[in-house]
This record gives sequence, structure tokens and C-alpha cells, in this order.
Amino acid sequence: MSTKFPSIGVLDIQGSVEEHLTALRRCGVNPVSVKNAEDLARVDGLIIPGGESTTIGKLMKKYGLGGEIIKRARHPHILTIWGTCAGAILLAKKILNQRPDSLSLMNVEISRNAYGRQLDSFETLLAIPSLEIKDFPAVFIRAPRIKRAFKKAKVLAEYNGEPVMVEEENLLITTFHPELTDDMRIHKYFLELT
Ligand code: GLN
Repeated sequence: MSTKFPSIGVLDIQGSVEEHLTALRRCGVNPVSVKNAEDLARVDGLIIPGGESTTIGKLMKKYGLGGEIIKRARHPHILTIWGTCAGAILLAKKILNQRPDSLSLMNVEISRNAYGRQLDSFETLLAIPSLEIKDFPAVFIRAPRIKRAFKKAKVLAEYNGEPVMVEEENLLITTFHPELTDDMRIHKYFLELT
């Protein structure tokens, strides 16, 4: 946690941007909507929302944001990042199928749209032991599957024996969408991490 009150932003390109901004306001934060490098320079923590990872990746590159995010995230004290769903795909070092313009920051291997048709979208209660959470309402929407977390990447929660929430130093990913629920516990955790 930095000494001053951290400033938190949401990458405002495509996807569940408004939902994350609303969730952060509910946590008492006045969030920054991050559309360009100038906005990015104002934040200590950045949420990359769910949406379409190919689109977000392409536009992030076009707006000159990808390189800046990588630079600032590689110094752990400068930028903390939380990727939800498509955001998780964009943070992964290995994407097993298709290749959106990834930030390649986190030691996980991920597969896009990898739950079968019947499980395309579903909701379940998750235990997150290190956060002392027994029952987080996790909403999965055309979610990716994390096949492997390696090196310093730590698994915080699993669904059916596979990681769905992983943390590595200043990076956090969830393949589900806390911003679509009323439960702010993971948003609050991200504020603590930043
Ligand atoms: N299926 C999307 C993708 O691969 C991710 C879905 C989501 O973010 N809810 O980019």
C-alpha cells in the first residue's frame, strides 16, 4: 500500500467498465476512467474489465496504452493491476488458443472460451481461503480457463480443481466477474493490494 491514498482507474476501452466504476464508488473510491496514457499516469491501480479480449487488446495497442501499462507494471510499486475475465486473458503470458495483443505480464497459461457450451455462463459460490471468504458469488461469462499458474503466481481460488483467481506480486486475475454482483469483497481486496 502506498503512503498516500491510492488512485484507482478502470481501463475504459470496451466491456464492463461502468460496472467496475460503480463498484469502486460503492467502496468509497472516486475512480479514474483510463482512456489514454495521460489518464494512466494518474493511477496506482488499474482494473482491466471483462469484455472481448481481442478488441480490448487491439485498441489498447492503438491508443498507445499497452506499452505504458507494461512499463509501469514491471516496477511492482508503480502499478497494481486486476484483470477480470478478458482482462485476465490480456495479462497472461501464455494464451493457448488465439492470440489477442496480450500484455504478457503474468505467469499463467490460459485458454479462451474454454468451458463447454452448457457452461457458457454460470454462477457458483467460491471459497477464497486466503481472503477468509467461504461463499463468493462468482459469475462466469464465456470465461477462459486457467490451465496452469507457475513461478511466483499463487492460486487463491479454484473451481472444479482449476484456478479461477490468481495473484502474482502486483497482479491479480479472476476469470469471473465480481463487478456484476453486489459483493464488493474482491474490489476491497484490490484496494488493499494497491
Ligand atoms: N470470451 C471473452 C474473450 O475471450 C471473455 C469473456 C468475458 O470477459 N466475459 O475475450
